[in-house]
Amino acid sequence: MSFHFYGNTKALQVLQQSIQTGHLSHAYLFYGPAGVGKQTLAKQFAQAIFCQGENIPCGHCIPCQKMLKNIHPDFQELGGQNTKNSFHVKEVRAIRSDAYIRPNDGEAKVYLLNGVDNMSKEAANSLLKVLEEPPDNVVFLLTCPSRSAVLPTLVSRCVPIEIFPVTQPECIQALQELSPDTTLEEITRASQLCDGIIGKGLELLSDPEEIKASQTAFQILESLSKGNELAVVVALSPLENSRPFTKKVLLFLSNLLRLALQAKIKKISIWGLDDFIQKQSIQSILKMADTVETCIGMLEQNANLKLCVTWLSANLPYSI
Ligand SMILES: [Zn+2]
Repeated sequence: MSFHFYGNTKALQVLQQSIQTGHLSHAYLFYGPAGVGKQTLAKQFAQAIFCQGENIPCGHCIPCQKMLKNIHPDFQELGGQNTKNSFHVKEVRAIRSDAYIRPNDGEAKVYLLNGVDNMSKEAANSLLKVLEEPPDNVVFLLTCPSRSAVLPTLVSRCVPIEIFPVTQPECIQALQELSPDTTLEEITRASQLCDGIIGKGLELLSDPEEIKASQTAFQILESLSKGNELAVVVALSPLENSRPFTKKVLLFLSNLLRLALQAKIKKISIWGLDDFIQKQSIQSILKMADTVETCIGMLEQNANLKLCVTWLSANLPYSI
């Protein structure tokens, strides 16, 4: 049995056991932070349910091929908008009627409902009714960021599948496989900023805004080691135009400072950050992290953007 998924051994074992023993539950709740792979794993699980090959999901049999081409008649995917109450009751009612019709191709029907935390109250209650008396041969796969984001009565009807961020080596391996045209330098940097969330890492490698923000964060870090005010002011200058961009850069910077601090304390090497770590003391890294955190707080409280950047520039300890 081979899901193509990184880390998360425990979740994979639960899903594999469901398939191998033939004891499929009527509902599974995949939960974890955005970009962690909930939808990806849920789709692979759906493919495994339909697969007629040997090494499930084999990727070669007719049902697998239909899943990979998004044309399997017994699979439906709904939801996925990221706004509150965007998942409406009429969509759930349509599923409810459809669920009582026998499968077209195989022995089961699978519904993937993305972002059930965005269901309206009526939609969630309507789904609950189906889960309380589920039709035979129907499997619901639900995704959401956390268990507390959905009705406890819904959660209690589902097998919980928690998806965790992966370790940095696992993240580097994943990014190399999923983004083969990027350099190891770019991949290593993305893995330092994405907190083990592979989807976020891929965004950092492909989205121009994310690339620019991560580069700016690294440039600010480098400027702090140069020991002169002008270098810091120049590195901070891209921040003065957009509040969301500035917040993104500061969150990346905060991640990098946390990594640098860990490396300094544990006396380990971190690719791309060693020069900075060598030149800074633990106290100065702590002060920088504290300053950046305070500035993020100021931005969240809607302080004037230019004033925030000026404050940051005056308070970051750039001297060695
Ligand atoms: Zn197959």
